[in-house]
Amino acid sequence: MSRRAINDPRWPGADPGLWIEAAEDAVRFAGRPALFLDRDGVINEDTGYPSRPEHIRILEDIIEPIRRANATGWPVVVVTNQSGVAQGLFGWDDFADVTAHIDAELATRGARLDLVLGCGYYGQGRPPLDVADHPMRKPNPGMFVEAGRLTGLDFGRSLMVGDRESDFQAAMGAGVSKLFSPAADCIGLRLGPLAEVVRPLAEAAELIG
Ligand SMILES: [Mg+2]
Repeated sequence: MSRRAINDPRWPGADPGLWIEAAEDAVRFAGRPALFLDRDGVINEDTGYPSRPEHIRILEDIIEPIRRANATGWPVVVVTNQSGVAQGLFGWDDFADVTAHIDAELATRGARLDLVLGCGYYGQGRPPLDVADHPMRKPNPGMFVEAGRLTGLDFGRSLMVGDRESDFQAAMGAGVSKLFSPAADCIGLRLGPLAEVVRPLAEAAELIG
Protein backbone atom coordinates (compact mmCIF):
# COMPACT_ATOMS: atom_id res chain seq x y z
CA MET A 1 0.00 0.00 0.00
CA SER A 2 1.91 3.00 -1.17
CA ARG A 3 0.13 6.04 0.14
CA ARG A 4 1.90 8.90 1.81
CA ALA A 5 0.61 11.35 4.39
CA ILE A 6 -0.08 14.83 3.05
CA ASN A 7 -1.55 16.08 6.31
CA ASP A 8 -1.33 13.97 9.46
CA PRO A 9 -3.08 15.80 12.33
CA ARG A 10 -0.53 14.28 14.73
CA TRP A 11 2.30 16.24 13.13
CA PRO A 12 3.36 19.45 14.84
CA GLY A 13 1.89 22.34 12.91
CA ALA A 14 -0.41 20.19 10.80
CA ASP A 15 -4.10 20.92 10.40
CA PRO A 16 -5.45 19.18 13.54
CA GLY A 17 -8.79 18.22 12.02
CA LEU A 18 -7.81 16.81 8.68
CA TRP A 19 -6.36 13.46 7.67
CA ILE A 20 -5.06 13.30 4.10
CA GLU A 21 -3.04 10.54 2.51
CA ALA A 22 -2.57 9.89 -1.18
CA ALA A 23 -0.97 7.37 -3.49
CA GLU A 24 2.68 8.23 -4.06
CA ASP A 25 1.98 8.53 -7.78
CA ALA A 26 -1.36 10.35 -7.44
CA VAL A 27 -0.59 12.59 -10.40
CA ARG A 28 -1.05 9.60 -12.70
CA PHE A 29 -4.78 10.00 -12.06
CA ALA A 30 -4.88 13.41 -13.77
CA GLY A 31 -7.85 13.59 -16.09
CA ARG A 32 -9.33 10.33 -14.78
CA PRO A 33 -12.67 10.01 -13.03
CA ALA A 34 -12.62 8.84 -9.42
CA LEU A 35 -14.65 6.41 -7.39
CA PHE A 36 -15.46 8.43 -4.27
CA LEU A 37 -16.55 6.42 -1.24
CA ASP A 38 -17.90 7.29 2.14
CA ARG A 39 -16.41 4.90 4.71
CA ASP A 40 -18.89 3.91 7.43
CA GLY A 41 -21.96 2.31 5.88
CA VAL A 42 -20.27 1.96 2.49
CA ILE A 43 -16.91 0.17 2.92
CA ASN A 44 -17.65 -1.18 6.39
CA GLU A 45 -20.81 -1.54 8.42
CA ASP A 46 -21.73 1.60 10.30
CA THR A 47 -21.67 0.14 13.78
CA GLY A 48 -21.76 3.58 15.44
CA TYR A 49 -18.37 5.32 15.53
CA PRO A 50 -16.31 2.28 14.54
CA SER A 51 -12.91 3.14 15.98
CA ARG A 52 -11.11 -0.16 16.52
CA PRO A 53 -10.07 -2.78 13.96
CA GLU A 54 -12.37 -5.30 15.66
CA HIS A 55 -15.34 -3.04 14.91
CA ILE A 56 -14.78 -3.34 11.16
CA ARG A 57 -17.00 -5.58 9.12
CA ILE A 58 -16.43 -5.14 5.40
CA LEU A 59 -19.52 -4.69 3.22
CA GLU A 60 -18.81 -7.09 0.38
CA ASP A 61 -20.96 -5.28 -2.18
CA ILE A 62 -18.41 -2.46 -2.44
CA ILE A 63 -15.56 -4.77 -3.44
CA GLU A 64 -16.46 -5.18 -7.10
CA PRO A 65 -16.69 -1.42 -7.82
CA ILE A 66 -13.34 -0.89 -6.06
CA ARG A 67 -11.68 -3.69 -8.00
CA ARG A 68 -13.01 -2.31 -11.27
CA ALA A 69 -11.71 1.15 -10.45
CA ASN A 70 -8.31 -0.29 -9.50
CA ALA A 71 -8.14 -2.30 -12.73
CA THR A 72 -9.13 0.57 -14.97
CA GLY A 73 -6.90 3.21 -13.39
CA TRP A 74 -9.49 5.30 -11.59
CA PRO A 75 -8.45 6.50 -8.13
CA VAL A 76 -10.51 5.16 -5.25
CA VAL A 77 -10.97 8.02 -2.80
CA VAL A 78 -12.38 7.72 0.73
CA VAL A 79 -14.03 10.87 2.08
CA THR A 80 -15.16 10.34 5.66
CA ASN A 81 -16.52 12.61 8.38
CA GLN A 82 -15.08 11.54 11.73
CA SER A 83 -16.90 13.67 14.28
CA GLY A 84 -15.93 11.12 16.92
CA VAL A 85 -12.47 12.69 16.93
CA ALA A 86 -13.91 16.12 17.78
CA GLN A 87 -16.10 14.54 20.42
CA GLY A 88 -13.16 12.81 22.07
CA LEU A 89 -14.58 9.34 21.44
CA PHE A 90 -11.35 8.25 19.75
CA GLY A 91 -8.18 9.73 18.32
CA TRP A 92 -6.27 9.85 15.06
CA ASP A 93 -4.12 6.91 16.17
CA ASP A 94 -7.32 4.87 16.28
CA PHE A 95 -8.36 6.19 12.87
CA ALA A 96 -4.96 5.12 11.49
CA ASP A 97 -5.34 1.64 13.00
CA VAL A 98 -8.77 1.25 11.42
CA THR A 99 -7.50 2.47 8.05
CA ALA A 100 -4.64 -0.04 8.15
CA HIS A 101 -7.09 -2.81 9.01
CA ILE A 102 -9.42 -1.84 6.16
CA ASP A 103 -6.43 -1.78 3.79
CA ALA A 104 -5.51 -5.32 4.88
CA GLU A 105 -9.06 -6.59 4.56
CA LEU A 106 -9.37 -5.09 1.08
CA ALA A 107 -5.99 -6.48 0.05
CA THR A 108 -7.19 -10.03 0.76
CA ARG A 109 -10.02 -9.29 -1.69
CA GLY A 110 -7.75 -7.80 -4.35
CA ALA A 111 -8.93 -4.23 -3.74
CA ARG A 112 -7.05 -1.03 -2.89
CA LEU A 113 -7.75 2.53 -1.72
CA ASP A 114 -5.68 5.28 -3.37
CA LEU A 115 -6.58 8.34 -1.28
CA VAL A 116 -8.01 8.60 2.23
CA LEU A 117 -9.37 11.87 3.58
CA GLY A 118 -10.94 12.22 7.01
CA CYS A 119 -12.48 15.30 8.60
CA GLY A 120 -12.46 15.52 12.38
CA TYR A 121 -14.13 18.94 12.66
CA TYR A 122 -17.55 19.08 14.27
CA GLY A 123 -19.48 22.01 15.66
CA GLN A 124 -20.38 20.27 18.93
CA GLY A 125 -16.86 18.94 19.46
CA ARG A 126 -13.98 19.98 21.66
CA PRO A 127 -11.51 22.76 20.83
CA PRO A 128 -9.77 23.15 18.46
CA LEU A 129 -12.03 20.87 16.40
CA ASP A 130 -15.33 22.54 17.38
CA VAL A 131 -15.72 24.33 14.08
CA ALA A 132 -19.30 24.50 12.83
CA ASP A 133 -19.90 23.93 9.13
CA HIS A 134 -16.19 23.40 8.38
CA PRO A 135 -15.54 23.45 4.63
CA MET A 136 -13.98 19.98 4.83
CA ARG A 137 -16.93 18.41 6.63
CA LYS A 138 -19.64 16.92 4.44
CA PRO A 139 -22.15 18.20 3.28
CA ASN A 140 -19.44 20.69 2.25
CA PRO A 141 -17.25 19.58 -0.66
CA GLY A 142 -13.80 20.40 0.78
CA MET A 143 -12.46 16.84 0.91
CA PHE A 144 -13.48 16.26 -2.70
CA VAL A 145 -11.84 19.50 -3.77
CA GLU A 146 -8.65 18.55 -1.94
CA ALA A 147 -8.59 15.14 -3.65
CA GLY A 148 -8.97 16.91 -6.96
CA ARG A 149 -6.12 19.25 -6.13
CA LEU A 150 -3.84 16.30 -5.35
CA THR A 151 -4.68 14.28 -8.45
CA GLY A 152 -6.21 16.49 -11.13
CA LEU A 153 -9.08 14.01 -11.38
CA ASP A 154 -12.18 14.60 -13.51
CA PHE A 155 -15.15 15.34 -11.23
CA GLY A 156 -17.66 15.34 -14.06
CA ARG A 157 -17.20 11.65 -14.84
CA SER A 158 -16.65 10.58 -11.20
CA LEU A 159 -18.94 8.43 -9.07
CA MET A 160 -19.94 8.81 -5.42
CA VAL A 161 -21.16 6.03 -3.14
CA GLY A 162 -22.68 7.17 0.14
CA ASP A 163 -25.27 6.24 2.69
CA ARG A 164 -26.45 9.68 3.83
CA GLU A 165 -27.86 12.69 2.05
CA SER A 166 -24.88 14.77 3.21
CA ASP A 167 -22.54 12.47 1.24
CA PHE A 168 -24.39 13.30 -1.94
CA GLN A 169 -24.70 17.02 -1.19
CA ALA A 170 -20.93 17.17 -0.76
CA ALA A 171 -20.33 15.28 -3.99
CA MET A 172 -22.72 17.52 -5.92
CA GLY A 173 -20.94 20.56 -4.49
CA ALA A 174 -17.75 19.37 -6.18
CA GLY A 175 -19.50 18.56 -9.46
CA VAL A 176 -19.86 14.81 -8.91
CA SER A 177 -23.37 13.93 -10.05
CA LYS A 178 -23.32 10.15 -10.53
CA LEU A 179 -24.64 9.03 -7.16
CA PHE A 180 -25.01 5.51 -5.75
CA SER A 181 -25.95 3.94 -2.43
CA PRO A 182 -26.18 0.57 -0.72
CA ALA A 183 -28.80 2.08 1.63
CA ALA A 184 -32.45 1.53 0.71
CA ASP A 185 -33.48 4.83 2.28
CA CYS A 186 -31.11 6.78 0.00
CA ILE A 187 -32.05 5.15 -3.31
CA GLY A 188 -34.33 7.43 -5.28
CA LEU A 189 -33.30 10.58 -3.40
CA ARG A 190 -33.23 13.61 -5.71
CA LEU A 191 -30.59 16.24 -5.03
CA GLY A 192 -29.48 19.62 -6.23
CA PRO A 193 -30.72 21.88 -9.00
CA LEU A 194 -30.37 19.06 -11.52
CA ALA A 195 -32.37 16.70 -9.27
CA GLU A 196 -29.83 13.93 -9.67
CA VAL A 197 -31.26 10.62 -8.48
CA VAL A 198 -29.37 8.28 -6.15
CA ARG A 199 -29.22 4.84 -7.75
CA PRO A 200 -28.58 1.37 -6.31
CA LEU A 201 -24.93 0.50 -5.69
CA ALA A 202 -25.30 -2.57 -7.92
CA GLU A 203 -25.50 -0.23 -10.93
CA ALA A 204 -22.19 1.51 -10.21
CA ALA A 205 -19.68 -1.09 -11.35
CA GLU A 206 -20.87 -1.13 -14.96
CA LEU A 207 -20.08 2.59 -15.27
CA ILE A 208 -16.43 2.10 -14.26
CA GLY A 209 -13.92 1.54 -17.01
MG1 LIG B 1 -21.75 6.77 6.13
